[in-house]
Amino acid sequence: MPIAVLSDVHANLTALHSVLWDAQQRKVERHYFLGDAVGYGPDPNECVMLIGELATHCVIGNHDAAVANESERFNRHALDAINWTRAELTPQNKALLAAMPLTTTAGDALLVHASPYEPEAWHYLSSASSAVAAAGHFTKHLCLIGHSHVPFIAEITATGRLVRHEETVEFKPDSRYIINAGSVGQPRDGDPRASYVLLHDERAELVRVEYNVTETQHRMLMAGLPEPLIRRLALGY
Ligand code: ZN
Repeated sequence: MPIAVLSDVHANLTALHSVLWDAQQRKVERHYFLGDAVGYGPDPNECVMLIGELATHCVIGNHDAAVANESERFNRHALDAINWTRAELTPQNKALLAAMPLTTTAGDALLVHASPYEPEAWHYLSSASSAVAAAGHFTKHLCLIGHSHVPFIAEITATGRLVRHEETVEFKPDSRYIINAGSVGQPRDGDPRASYVLLHDERAELVRVEYNVTETQHRMLMAGLPEPLIRRLALGY
């Protein structure tokens, strides 16, 4: 049975539902979550509860930490959304986020929101080439990340060479892998479809799922969330 690896849901319940439905069609029975359940989108409570129920392994993201604890450096619109989310979230859901660890392991995989190097500093790994340096900072066969909202699969061979894989990869015992699951709720690679990873025993694949972007945009408008955040969903940026 494959595992669905989800990241950066960002309170986009419409996108999350579409991804979970797609994963169900592909016989997924387990889910890992790589952080940022909230921030930007209109349905933080529903997303936190659903992720809390479904995911067997979770890590905290920078937006989750900002909402549950206190904010750090964010641009104005992100900060507006964080303040809105903080007011919306129930104390139980805030506690659920606050209890998520910075890193966790599942079998032969390390799960971390941003980077295995200084996970608390939220460094961005936006491309396969940026993953090479990070490979020295974990010991597992796989490192599963999110944060940049840009999906990629990077293989680092035993000799330290980088091999990029477009959509799928067959795992080799001697290589190690950094896989960015992209973002369920706010993709930034120019493709507005929700992104997640299907993880099998011997391989992984990047999956894209159409969802009703207009519905999320409408709900954001009703919630009074910042306009630029509403517009960018349709652009996948
Ligand atoms: Zn994010």
